[in-house]
Amino acid sequence: MSQAEIGLIGLGVMGSNLALNIAEKGNKIAVFNRTVEATRKFYSEAGELKGQIVPCETIEEFVAAIRPPRPIIIMIKAGEAVDQQMEILKPYLSKGDIMIDAGNANFRDTMRRFDALKGSDLTFIGMGVSGGEEGARHGPSIMVGGTEESYRRVEKVLTSIAAKYENDPCVAWLGENGAGHFVKTIHNGIEYADMQMIAEIYGILRDGLKMSAAEIGEVFGTWNKGRLNSYLIEITEKVLKAADPLTGKPIVDLILDKAGQKGTGKWSVIEAQNMGIPATGIEAAVAARSISSMKEEREAAEKILGLPPVGEFTVADRQAFIEDLENALLAAKIGAYAQGFAVMSAASKEFGWNLPMPTIAKIWRAGCIIRSQFLDEITTAFTKAPDVANLIVTPAFAAMVKETDGALRRVVSAAVLGGLPVPALASALGYFDSYRRGRGTANVIQAQRDFFGAHGFDRVDGADSHHGPWGSGLNA
Ligand code: NAP
Repeated sequence: MSQAEIGLIGLGVMGSNLALNIAEKGNKIAVFNRTVEATRKFYSEAGELKGQIVPCETIEEFVAAIRPPRPIIIMIKAGEAVDQQMEILKPYLSKGDIMIDAGNANFRDTMRRFDALKGSDLTFIGMGVSGGEEGARHGPSIMVGGTEESYRRVEKVLTSIAAKYENDPCVAWLGENGAGHFVKTIHNGIEYADMQMIAEIYGILRDGLKMSAAEIGEVFGTWNKGRLNSYLIEITEKVLKAADPLTGKPIVDLILDKAGQKGTGKWSVIEAQNMGIPATGIEAAVAARSISSMKEEREAAEKILGLPPVGEFTVADRQAFIEDLENALLAAKIGAYAQGFAVMSAASKEFGWNLPMPTIAKIWRAGCIIRSQFLDEITTAFTKAPDVANLIVTPAFAAMVKETDGALRRVVSAAVLGGLPVPALASALGYFDSYRRGRGTANVIQAQRDFFGAHGFDRVDGADSHHGPWGSGLNA
């Protein structure tokens, strides 16, 4: 039997679908899973793709089944498991082999793994894959980090399996070492913000306008035909309209309001904070997931504090308010994406990656969870101005912000007055209002810092450090 051109370790949800995708595109693939039963089950269910798949039950057998130099995708639980798997694999590998971690790794781990193999016969690629189960099976968005030379060696197979946006494959080499996993992390951070903003809008429709799940689903369905057209809006309509087979009730009403998280949102916030770049939408979304998980505490607090005593949630014109909600969501989304791209731009300088912003927007247009029509507009904006300081000052997005931020202001005001939590939507408004104001209020902070800590301040009428006339307060 001829040897496989690529190998894949880890036949969980993502790995098994990615392996079928690779096989379907005409690439012969060897597969291995720690638990042998999963390999047997996977192969027995591979149907007409069996001829393209070499199932292996030992690592020796697996490595021998791949033609050297071997590209090997590792698609297993992120973290220590990847280090363990690499150590198990290494003794069997030979010159030129590439280990490709396709899980949701922390990019700092990816940098460490990449550096550890530098100068050896082996190479490491850190590859972010987005699109969930369906994307892995039929076309994910793929963000690659590593040496360009190693990418070129796997480009053909990755291009064959990636999602296509109008024939453009959603895969690219983004830079050295951790670049791919960093971009995937920020992708997920933006995804957190997008999902939280959608949930807040749902909350206003449910608790403010007292609409049923199906009615809200209709609203999202209409929005999906307009400028908000995206995968997340599409699936929100579907989940809101789905009925529970046991009770016939809307399934969403029966789902516990505790959100899980695995780390990429938190990592996005940590890295943004490390570089001093505001990512308030992602921060609000991560915090909201944490608050959501404190279910018992929230229920106890509601008994003590009660809901805000605001009375009925009233809007003068219901239809106009729903239109405002659509525009508010668009405005807030612009804020979150602008922040995500600003974080990537700072990281690009910090880690010397030279991240290509238009390419990143391009490969997110299909396959990934945040795919949307909107990303095509971001691609155009960054193609015209690749080095712009912030997406919101590009002509197209500045116009969109000016057009929609009034709606965001009305929606946030109504929600605040109605006692409905909208931390992510409000964060976008705060971001716009602070970012667009040339003269802010940090002068008073600088004065306070100088007062208690003699930190000094620059004057508007000349640079250099100065101190205020605080007298004995200096040492207070
Ligand atoms: P999963 O279905 O839970 O499968 C986990 C896989 O990891 C199994 O094959 C498991 O093998 C293997 N594994 C766990 N610990 C291991 C160890 N110590 N050594 C060797 N193998 C080990 O997970 P998944 O959803 O496919 O996720 C895989 C990776 O993709 C993760 O990094 C995840 O964050 C990332 N990812 C997931 C999604 C998604 O939507 N699910 C999307 C993008 C990225 P056994 O069968 O032996 O337990």
